[in-house]
Amino acid sequence: MAQTIPGLHHVTAISGPPQANVNFYVATLLQRLVKKTVNFDDPGTYHLYYGNQMAEPGSILTFFPFNDAGPGRAGPGMASAVAYGVPKGGLNAWMMALAEAAVYFDGPFERFDEQMIALTDPDGLRVELIETDRGMSQGISTDGTPVDGGFHSVTLWLDNPDRTARLLTDVFGYASAGEASQNGETRYRFLAAGQGRGSAIDLITSDVASIGRQGAGAIHHVAFRAENDDAQKGWQETLRSQGLDVTPQIDRQYFNAIYFREPGGVLFEIATDPPGFATDEPMETLGQELKLPAQHERLRDQIERILPPVTIPRGRQNAQ
Ligand code: ZN
Repeated sequence: MAQTIPGLHHVTAISGPPQANVNFYVATLLQRLVKKTVNFDDPGTYHLYYGNQMAEPGSILTFFPFNDAGPGRAGPGMASAVAYGVPKGGLNAWMMALAEAAVYFDGPFERFDEQMIALTDPDGLRVELIETDRGMSQGISTDGTPVDGGFHSVTLWLDNPDRTARLLTDVFGYASAGEASQNGETRYRFLAAGQGRGSAIDLITSDVASIGRQGAGAIHHVAFRAENDDAQKGWQETLRSQGLDVTPQIDRQYFNAIYFREPGGVLFEIATDPPGFATDEPMETLGQELKLPAQHERLRDQIERILPPVTIPRGRQNAQ
C-alpha cells in the first residue's frame, strides 16, 4: 500500500449557545480551548476548537455553536460518538472527579477489553472516555485525571458497514480489530497502522430505528490526518480513482482540507498536519483572542458585535 492514514485529525460538531459548550469541554473534560475563530463560510458564527495542551492533530474537537440550533440526532450515515483516550488505570480518577462535580455518566462498561464511561455534552453529543494504551504518551495530572491523551476513536453509525469497512482497510490502511454484538448493536473496530492518538474507528449497525439529523449535538464531519500537502494530494488522487467525489483543496488557515462523502454517508475530510494552530498566535496563549482569517479581518468590528461574549472557565487544574 502506497500510503496509510495515521489516524484522526479532528472531529467537527454543531452545538447550541457557546458558553455551555466551552464550560463543558474546558471545565469538565479539561480540554484546552486552542482556537477561537469564526465559521469561514458564515463569519457571524464562532468556530471553537478544543484540543490537548499542544493542540495536536488527533486531539482536536471543533464546534460551530448556534444560539438557535435545533436539536440534532444521530442515525445511520452519521458519526454518533467521539471518544477520548484515558491512560490505563486513569478512569477511576475521572469517575470520582465527575461524580464530585455532579456530572452524570454511564458506566463503567467494558468494550473490546477496554474500560470506559460515557457522558453527554450539553447538547446531547455522546462523549466516551476509554482506557487504552494507544497514543497515551502523556502523564496524569496532580489530581489524578489524565488530561492530554487526545482521541481514542469515533463511532460511525451505518445501515451497512461493508463499503465503509473496505474504504478503511483497502484504501486507508486500517486493520480489522474485532467485532462484538450487544443489545441489538453490532460494533466493528478498525485500527490505523501506527496505533497512535486517534487511531481507532468503530462502525456500528443498530436495530434501533433512527433518522439522523444535523443540529446541536450532532457530529458534522470526521477528519483524518495527512502528513503534508503532498500526502493529501496523493489521497485526493487515490479517492478519485475509487470513484469518490472529492473537493479541491480548501485553505482552513490551520490546515488544508479536502472533503468527500464516504460510501456509508458520513462526511469525511482529510486535513494536513501543517501549519497547525500556532500559526497566528503563540502556543502559550492559544484560544484567548478572537482570530480571523485575512479575508474577514476588515469585518472584525461587525463580527465582534454579533458574536456572543464567551468566558473561558478554569479547568480543574492547569488553569490558563
Ligand atoms: Zn473539518
